[in-house]
Amino acid sequence: MERIYNFSAGPAMLPLPVLEEASKGVLEIQNSGMSILEVSHRGKHYEAIHYDTIQRVLSVLSLSPEEFDVLFLGGGASLQFAMLPMNFLRAGQTADYINTGEWAVKAISEAKRFGTVNIAGTSEDRRYSYIPTELHLSPSARYVHITTNNTIEGTEWHTLPETNGVPLVADCSSDIFALERDYSRFHLFYAGAQKNAGPAGVTLVVARKEFLQQAADDVPTILSYKTHAKANSLYNTPPVFAIYVMNLVMKWIEAQGGLKTIEAHNRQKAALIYDALDAHPDVYDPTVTQKADRSLMNVTFRLKNPEWEAAFLEGAKARKMEGLKGHRSVGGFRASIYNAFPIEGCQALADYLHAFAANPT
Ligand code: PMP
Repeated sequence: MERIYNFSAGPAMLPLPVLEEASKGVLEIQNSGMSILEVSHRGKHYEAIHYDTIQRVLSVLSLSPEEFDVLFLGGGASLQFAMLPMNFLRAGQTADYINTGEWAVKAISEAKRFGTVNIAGTSEDRRYSYIPTELHLSPSARYVHITTNNTIEGTEWHTLPETNGVPLVADCSSDIFALERDYSRFHLFYAGAQKNAGPAGVTLVVARKEFLQQAADDVPTILSYKTHAKANSLYNTPPVFAIYVMNLVMKWIEAQGGLKTIEAHNRQKAALIYDALDAHPDVYDPTVTQKADRSLMNVTFRLKNPEWEAAFLEGAKARKMEGLKGHRSVGGFRASIYNAFPIEGCQALADYLHAFAANPT
């Protein structure tokens, strides 16, 4: 099989060695005579994988198992938009949200069902093309919520905001494991797995144990963080296969040299594409003009002349590049280059950007 350059925003490319190992696991794991898809989630084969994944997630993120819990939940990051305020926000209480794009808007609309939402900062005025620095935080907020990487708009928080003691909470769906970051700054963060952590089906929640203990008790059992923390994410059947693949992804990250090496590689990859876009300002419009706020994961741009779009996509396809169309809500183009996306693909896109700019019709 010849692999193409798949720029999809998620589910997205996984490392080939992970896919190869996972395909073996689909047939048999640990000489058990059983597929990973067949074993009990309470049996020794799966349990070993489960606890090993928890330990590796914390170790890759440089977090202590004494301070942090790792939860494997279903429902995607979208469930976390509701589960977070369901567990931490009540009528009469305020949570601060920073509105940096469409996913943040969804998180905000769920939080409003439970309590007061203070929009502590927003970049809505310029189509979410930057990360706001002017914040109006409420000193008594239950938490401050940010979206570390804005998958649709192509911005990323490269410096975390100072919250003056208020718990910082984040949707890290599209840049978890992409760069070195002081994850201990967060009280809780979550991520759908299907970009940098594994296949769709599992959502990772990492939280300070002490913070989870402050969660409300009047929450349906299955939606309570306390339930899952107490049961080590084995309260009900977890998404076994997705966690197994996440385990393989963690081992792959370790083999690359951890987040330091991954970040250096991601910076190199993104620079190839941004430099090519910036080299032809008469042909390309990178949507994030403030370079410091540009995402390492999702490079978003438009063509100066929308009439060139069909030809641009066709040329990309001929070079085995797929998934470059921007999110349906914003149009334009988006190159999603998560951890497993190879640097050769970024070079191929950069070469194509230069070639297309020479004759853009
Ligand atoms: N937040 C962000 C930043 C995302 O990119 C996405 C998905 N693209 C979501 C939340 C929603 O995730 P899910 O589909 O897992 O619910």
